[in-house]
Amino acid sequence: MTAKSAQSGTAPRPPPRRSGRFAPVRVSEPPGRPVLTVVVPMFNEEAVLPLFVRRLRPVLDELPVPYEVLAVDDGSTDTTPVLLQRALREWPALRVVRLRANSGHQAAISAGLQRSRGDWVVTIDADLQDPPETIARMYAAAVSQDVDVVYGVRSDRTTDSAFKRHTAGAFYRLMRRLAKLDISQDAGDFRLMSRETVDAINALPEQGRVLRLVVPALGFPSTTVDYKREARAAGESKYPLRKMVGLTLDSVTGFSQAPLRFATWFSLLGFVVAALVLVYGVWSKLSGGTASGWASTVVILAVFSALQLLCLGILGEYVGRTYSALQQRPSYYVAYDSEHHGPRGGPDEPGD
Ligand code: UDP
Ligand code: MG
Repeated sequence: MTAKSAQSGTAPRPPPRRSGRFAPVRVSEPPGRPVLTVVVPMFNEEAVLPLFVRRLRPVLDELPVPYEVLAVDDGSTDTTPVLLQRALREWPALRVVRLRANSGHQAAISAGLQRSRGDWVVTIDADLQDPPETIARMYAAAVSQDVDVVYGVRSDRTTDSAFKRHTAGAFYRLMRRLAKLDISQDAGDFRLMSRETVDAINALPEQGRVLRLVVPALGFPSTTVDYKREARAAGESKYPLRKMVGLTLDSVTGFSQAPLRFATWFSLLGFVVAALVLVYGVWSKLSGGTASGWASTVVILAVFSALQLLCLGILGEYVGRTYSALQQRPSYYVAYDSEHHGPRGGPDEPGD
């Protein structure tokens, strides 16, 4: 299968599935509608982009179905848009969507999902940590096992830093506990989803959604495909600590109200401490002395003031989330879409 035939739409489509989604091409269907969409969020990936294209294209050209690649440029400030324009001229199956500002990994994926047209959609990082060759195995697993979601599960994360592995481990343990979701510690955002799954995600009004939690929560039948997590092929991680903390806050506030109960538990602790201090004070008085304890007073005051501020902070996170939900502002704005402007349109033209 070549990119040319991918565009022409003459390739055979996969066999029908239980819902009949893969019935032979419908008459009304525009020619060339892809069966597979590959969504790639990119932020300042100039170092890795040419390598990524060179490795992804042969894998997709080998697939037995037409495909499209949807590169979402998440407001890059390096030469990523220029490289994407260059790639557009040579790769007809490529479509480039540029966001007006850096809106984050999850928002960039959401922009890609909204515009995807395939019966199946894969989301993959641009840094070659997720090997593109796995896409063929994911597609085969989805069709043969008749499932809606195929999670890429990292069987070997030794190429991630120890810090990354530990923080990721803590994140998944916390979320499994709080959200009561059966999520794999080693599944990130490399996954294949059916059209039904993507439509269900697109229909969610939720802002700041964390897809690695939202997708398992939807409960579609799923399977996993193991892969070895490779080292970033070039460039640096675009996930500084600040963004990791942001993702964790979005995950916790989006999936659990348990932190809101902290205040209740802390107040019980406060009552116990107050009762002990009361008993101690009365006992000191009765035994003829005075209750000493400047240090204990200050410590108790400091600890409970900190707990009160923590509870206010937690409340603030939920109030903030409710506030943004009420504002209903989109989490990204699209500046350019090669589908509407043609491959020669400049990346800074206004879009929708
Ligand atoms: N990314 C993005 N917007 C951002 C941060 C990251 O689109 O604000 C993309 C990035 O270009 C890459 C993917 O998301 O394709 C994952 O980012 P990265 O590899 O830097 O994360 P890490 O693997 O270090 O967690
Ligand atoms: Mg990476």
